[in-house]
Amino acid sequence: MQSRSYPEILADRKQLGPYPMEKLKYVDQPTTKITDNIQRIDEREHGFGQAFLGKFGPFVEKEIARFCEKYPISSAMWEMPPQFKLIADGEVAPNKAPIPQDPELLSRHIKSLGYFLRADIVGICRLPQWAVYSYNLKGNPVECNQKFAIVIVIDQDYETMKGSRGDDWISCSQSFLSYNTSAFIACTMAAYIRRLGYPARAHFEGATRSAYQVVVTPLLLLAGIGEICRAGIVLNPFLGTRFKASVVTTDLPLETDKPVDFGLQEFCQKCMKCAHECPAKAIPFGDKVMYNGYEVWRFDTERCTKYRITNQNGSACGRCIKVCPWNKPEGWTHDIVRWMVKHAPFLDKLIVKVDDIWGYGKQDIRYKWWFDLEDADGVLQIPGKSQD
Ligand code: SF4
Ligand code: SF4
Repeated sequence: MQSRSYPEILADRKQLGPYPMEKLKYVDQPTTKITDNIQRIDEREHGFGQAFLGKFGPFVEKEIARFCEKYPISSAMWEMPPQFKLIADGEVAPNKAPIPQDPELLSRHIKSLGYFLRADIVGICRLPQWAVYSYNLKGNPVECNQKFAIVIVIDQDYETMKGSRGDDWISCSQSFLSYNTSAFIACTMAAYIRRLGYPARAHFEGATRSAYQVVVTPLLLLAGIGEICRAGIVLNPFLGTRFKASVVTTDLPLETDKPVDFGLQEFCQKCMKCAHECPAKAIPFGDKVMYNGYEVWRFDTERCTKYRITNQNGSACGRCIKVCPWNKPEGWTHDIVRWMVKHAPFLDKLIVKVDDIWGYGKQDIRYKWWFDLEDADGVLQIPGKSQD
């Protein structure tokens, strides 16, 4: 067999991960307008930061203490992020490994590592300083000067979402499935890059023990994972908003991805399904507005955070994720719909209507595999109101 070089082998693989991200339309500027007037965010200003600081009142402060722990699966998952945090950063090997220095090749290598570790999507962008938090949850200044951000996306599981209502007892566990898995991948990837002789730090969720130094949404946008949707988060054409992400920042020389355009801005303008279905009325029906240098639909963080923390009929909430017409399994029929959104936007309203008629967004009880249970003072019991 003829021997082949690393560049030949890596360049050969047209699609690296499980989703055909390489086929999307890449553009020079993101579809969300970004000005040069973005202020760095203090992590304490975030919804959960405000809740931890008691700014949303004593009931929210009391409930956040059992946010993950009130359901046994999310509670089991909750014990892991603090362990990851110990290895988010570390010493860099004194000598650089004898590897090729071609940024294109290194990007394909790092993405392949992410997919080997079971990432669903990996994207890369430059790290703008405005995407670094100004202060962390403890009020300490944040500094992160590495050049690149590798974004690691993990699906929250389509079939579980299908069996749920979106804001029932499995919701928090779905989030932490993605947070913990992406944390594992980010910590492994960062530790590997440090062993190659380059600085690298993992950023991931751990609730009160958050290990993010960077704001994830703009990095997802710049790394070409998706477009910002009406619900205020990034939507990917294959996963919808059904994912969480971790990040690795590094100085390893990498080639960056570009933002994508698959027609979402016009689609969200007409759809509004998430705004109708949000139990907290946190998603707007109106047009985009300028906010901190971004032109976005202005999502009400306080309403959403309060609902997720104090939801008495479940654990957290992902109802906007569940009902979104982009929350779909893989398949050629949905490939056609994706093509129609991009090339025939006059059909957008019809697509939303057909989505409703076919019952997408409704709970399908045949897919429910978990028990409804609630921890009450250390004793598991059947919650007062079950979901089915
Ligand atoms: S997570 Fe729930 S409360 Fe928050 S915006 Fe989505 S549907 Fe509304
Ligand atoms: S439900 Fe509709 S409006 Fe909301 S994010 Fe999804 S596509 Fe956009």
